[in-house]
Amino acid sequence: MDQKDKIELNDIWPQERDFIFRPDRLKYVRRLKNDENCVFCSVVEAKVPSENNLCIYKSEQVHILLNKYPYNTGHLLVVPNKHIGSMFDLDDSDYLEMMKAVRFASKLLTKVYGVKGLNVGVNHGKVAGAGIPDHLHWHVIPRWFGDTNFFPVIAETKVLPETLEQTWNKLYPAVTKLLEEKGGKL
Ligand SMILES: [Zn+2]
Repeated sequence: MDQKDKIELNDIWPQERDFIFRPDRLKYVRRLKNDENCVFCSVVEAKVPSENNLCIYKSEQVHILLNKYPYNTGHLLVVPNKHIGSMFDLDDSDYLEMMKAVRFASKLLTKVYGVKGLNVGVNHGKVAGAGIPDHLHWHVIPRWFGDTNFFPVIAETKVLPETLEQTWNKLYPAVTKLLEEKGGKL
């Protein structure tokens, strides 16, 4: 395989060393976890979305927040308000709202960042790599061509072009705008 083919193959199928199928990265996520205080529940309990709680959308059923340890700029998490670890335990109304929020988050990232693709998914259960297995969370991860580089391979470090504060300050106002465009609905 010549170099050009290798580059194109990496662009098409780059998740070999990043993204949601990386249980070894849980050590970063697990720092968030406290058995008594679920980090997602504390976001749900917060009165308003803010840079501090990383929340960008809040409703009676779901929340959308920035991942504190993003795989890529704009990596979002969608969580149900209920502290539930299995999607089988979500009622239809909550499940539907979750899926709408996942779609909304995807649309938001597409509009704000002009992303070319997204990884959307859930690590369902501890064995599947869920960092916080007791509270369901969907990952919505923006992808760009060529967004992988050698840093994650050699140093387990992802170089991100924006701080979380910058990302929040871009996305939070964009949520309001997109909601207005959609008549207030997800
Ligand atoms: Zn919780």
